[in-house]
Amino acid sequence: MSEGAVNKTKKRFIAGAVCPACSETDKLMMWNEDGVPHRECVACGFTDTLNEQGLSVPKELGTRVNQPAAKAAPAQVQTVQFFPNPKLKKPAE
Ligand SMILES: [Zn+2]
Repeated sequence: MSEGAVNKTKKRFIAGAVCPACSETDKLMMWNEDGVPHRECVACGFTDTLNEQGLSVPKELGTRVNQPAAKAAPAQVQTVQFFPNPKLKKPAE
């Protein structure tokens, strides 16, 4: 088998597709590389690939299958309120 030979299809504009990065319509091109759908926005340069579930995969991940689960741990913000005790004030006679 020949290594490095990637079966690419032609880039085609996706009618009505909205870029997830810049929200421009009809600026996304799509093509396949070895059966993997790729997208590219000609307006802002955004590129990504789609996995088997049709979900967007950022370019940086490459061929890695296991994606780190985005743990969106919300920062625990505790607002502590101090109520000044009005009884500390001695009533003026
Ligand atoms: Zn874009």
